[in-house]
Amino acid sequence: MSNKWVYLFTEVGQVEQLTGSWDGVRSLLGGKGAGLFDMVRAGMPVPPGFTITTQACNAYFDAGKQLPEGLWDQVLAAMKATEQAAGKVFGDPTNPLLVSVRSGAKFSMPGMMDTVLNVGLNDQTLEGLAALSGNERFAYDAYRRLIQMFGRIVKGISGEKFEHILEKYKARTAGGKDTDLTVDHLKKVVTEYKSLYKKELGEDFPQDPYEQLRQAVQAVFQSWFGKRAVDYRNYNKIPHDLGTAVNVVTMVFGNMGDDSGTGVAFSRDPATGEKVLYGEYLFNAQGEDVVAGIRTPKKIKELAEENPRVYQEFVEIVDRLERHYREMQDMEFTIERGKLYMLQTRTGKRTVKAAVKIAVDMVHEGIITREEALQRIEPAQINQLLLPRFDDKAKKSGVLLARGLNASPGAATGIAIFDADTAEELGKAGKAVILVRTETNPDDVHGMLVAKGILTQRGGATSHAAVVARGLGKPCVAGCEAIRVDSEKKQFTADGKVIKEGDFISIDGTTGEVFEGKIATIVPNLAEEKELSELLAWADEIRARDVRPPYGSSPTKGLQVWANADYPRDARVAREFGAQGIGLCRTEHMFFEQERLPIVQQMILNASEAQAVLNRLARAEEELARRPDSKEAQKAVAEAKKAVRASAAVKAYQGALKKLLPFQRQDFEGIFEVMDGLPVIIRLIDPPLHEFLPSHESLLEQVTDLRARIDMAKRVTYRPRKGEKSLKQMQTELAEKEKLLHAVNAMREANPMLGLRGIRLGITYPGITEMQVRAIFEAACRQAKKGIVVKPEVMIPLTGHINELRVSQTALEKVARQVMEEQGVEVEYKFGTMIEVPRGALTAGQIAELAQFFSFGTNDLTQMTFGYSRDDAEGKFLLQYVENKILPDNPFQTLDREGVGQLVRLAVTEGRKTRPDLEIGICGEHGGDPSSIEFCHQNGLNYVSCSPYRVPVARLAAAQAALGAVVRDK
Ligand code: PEP
Ligand code: MG
Repeated sequence: MSNKWVYLFTEVGQVEQLTGSWDGVRSLLGGKGAGLFDMVRAGMPVPPGFTITTQACNAYFDAGKQLPEGLWDQVLAAMKATEQAAGKVFGDPTNPLLVSVRSGAKFSMPGMMDTVLNVGLNDQTLEGLAALSGNERFAYDAYRRLIQMFGRIVKGISGEKFEHILEKYKARTAGGKDTDLTVDHLKKVVTEYKSLYKKELGEDFPQDPYEQLRQAVQAVFQSWFGKRAVDYRNYNKIPHDLGTAVNVVTMVFGNMGDDSGTGVAFSRDPATGEKVLYGEYLFNAQGEDVVAGIRTPKKIKELAEENPRVYQEFVEIVDRLERHYREMQDMEFTIERGKLYMLQTRTGKRTVKAAVKIAVDMVHEGIITREEALQRIEPAQINQLLLPRFDDKAKKSGVLLARGLNASPGAATGIAIFDADTAEELGKAGKAVILVRTETNPDDVHGMLVAKGILTQRGGATSHAAVVARGLGKPCVAGCEAIRVDSEKKQFTADGKVIKEGDFISIDGTTGEVFEGKIATIVPNLAEEKELSELLAWADEIRARDVRPPYGSSPTKGLQVWANADYPRDARVAREFGAQGIGLCRTEHMFFEQERLPIVQQMILNASEAQAVLNRLARAEEELARRPDSKEAQKAVAEAKKAVRASAAVKAYQGALKKLLPFQRQDFEGIFEVMDGLPVIIRLIDPPLHEFLPSHESLLEQVTDLRARIDMAKRVTYRPRKGEKSLKQMQTELAEKEKLLHAVNAMREANPMLGLRGIRLGITYPGITEMQVRAIFEAACRQAKKGIVVKPEVMIPLTGHINELRVSQTALEKVARQVMEEQGVEVEYKFGTMIEVPRGALTAGQIAELAQFFSFGTNDLTQMTFGYSRDDAEGKFLLQYVENKILPDNPFQTLDREGVGQLVRLAVTEGRKTRPDLEIGICGEHGGDPSSIEFCHQNGLNYVSCSPYRVPVARLAAAQAALGAVVRDK
């Protein structure tokens, strides 16, 4: 017996038995099919029909695009059963059954695959339909739609050619809309469509209904590998081997007169999450009229007045569906001569804001549990709620051009671009682009993917532009009828103004406003996001539970979330967002501030010479300590001291350090104050010193230029004009620049990232790190005296060998104790290191003898494990690697579990063997990435640390890791 490829809507039990789970049913029948089967079981009014399985689609491609054996016979049998249920006959001229042939994959891919409606109409059944409905116009309209869809989708005739004919006849009517076309117009349209079909293909439009059906089924299968569908799956990481099901459904007509209609509705508002029925409908129309945005539909609320009975029935069905699926539903319905039919229900796409509100509301309504609510939100997406929006003040001064529908929230500024290809090109080149279209269709998706926002002239809240934008989390203003888009001229007009391609515009998808020019944005406030705060509080509760099995001395509670913050203002944001500590304060960032950079440069330029003199004194003192009576040793010390006193370099070096100390102390005081009661990890200077100096190239250029100008000035009688430098001034400047160039030259390294940085720098120039530790402890002691609870943790970067830490940490701890003694205060503190050099990870057991904490610097650890330069790899080859699947992900974003992850695991295990209470965290970029957070949870880290704005994401991701289920893309 051949496989069973076809199931009637009434056979849901059989499919469940076969597949063993609802997920299995969805895999086999597709999401749309499964929804129809389920609705039939729940007693909903669904038009009769059947589903051809996704397996049949795969078998079709396996067999070189041939229908698999047995499929067609099963379709014929299912058609007989459908005829019986519908009380109509396929191809019967007096009582014709018509069907729709609809695609439907496991995961919703809205508008990405094809559907053919009105299959079964031909020159004979057309007459039957006209007689049956008593509406000849409707019958011809249905017929022209079939020829148009069949010609375009099944046969690949350009849709524009059909539209061109239709437009010609529309232009002959007074209203100019397709509803204004008369029967006679439509008869002529049908005749012209048929001629076009024949001209394009050299054959007649097929009159055999079964031939139409067979070809339509194959076309839907083919659309699985259509370009749009493939692009969409690539973007959404949906596998290509799932296949699409084909749903063959009895046609019911919303265009059978004024007691008929069609619509789409969401059980809750997909933009805000509000619990209100949200959607649109049109009387006397077919489904595509609503979504295509050709006619502007009515709000669903109006149905309550226009047809209260149907509205009430619909409201009850919606409520039942929501409770049945325990999810917000997106439904399509048709009213045929006063009778309501449900055509589709599926989990509704929504904005992140709505997703959070719906999840939280459903917990309060007793529909789902808190844990389920937490697992329903994609962590990376909640970032959107905290994304910038227009600054109110800036917005007030903005020039409002027009107002449209607030189809997808958020604000965006960018240049207006009028076609998807250019949008894609410029967007990929890093330009902020707003895609402006009359209305969008699936062929625009590639442009929408890269655009910052979308603006359309036509279409409602469920139009293609609106639905796709919401799914992508991009701002969209749709149905903005006040603008006139001219795609050919690449411009739009609004309010008497012309906006051309490349002009800046700003759109606010939350309010529907469109502005001329750029508008500044601000960052939203988490506290105002009530539902998100509540959800995150539930996430925190989960993390605080014993969610990890006891394993040695590993933590049993969930991950803590700390933040990377360099300044008190960052720390404040981090704390507001729920950070439980600072996991990385990069002190060198403070060195770059305008006021400090000249002092830092003075320190660097003198460091080498000064340190040599100071080292000589240190060695002499050590020798004297060994031989206190030695005259020679005493003399050496005296001479070394004299050299120190006489050294201009030492004076400049120590002078600079002295000036920097209060700056650093002040920064740390601010951070300790904000983080009162919480740990603060401060990392000592890390980057190579040349980063604080001008580049070698630019200095060389300046020196060469100055030399030439001086040379010239010497040869002629030089009289500087106003604003020009005198010869003397130029000579002084040259001397300074030459000195700087000399220093930069001396500091140059072939591989600075592998050179004198991190702990190596601290060992070479201990004066710098000693100053930093002094600043940290002076700040800590001062704040402790004020009653602030300080928990400083000093982090030494880039340790690769325990001996490095022996030298560095021992000396620095001495400074810490000395400061506390001077200040007369003891504060709780730790000294630890970053694990970011592979050798550091491999010898973590030894390193933990000294380090009281580890923090994985996975940026460097990834760089050094892969041997990829973190500064160059992405631009040169890495993104291509990811695109070509040589690597599954960008390892600088998502932790490479198999490689870098092994080093992390080893270091955790070995480190805790030596020091069971070792505190372990991560502060590389991966600390804010949900998949990496899951890895950290599973491998016994105490906390993850990420940038302040990712703290909410990390709180949710850590809770999901604790619940054992990170929500994936789907
Ligand atoms: C790291 O290497 O992961 C890290 C946090 O340090 P930085 O990025 O400053 O090198
Ligand atoms: Mg690093």
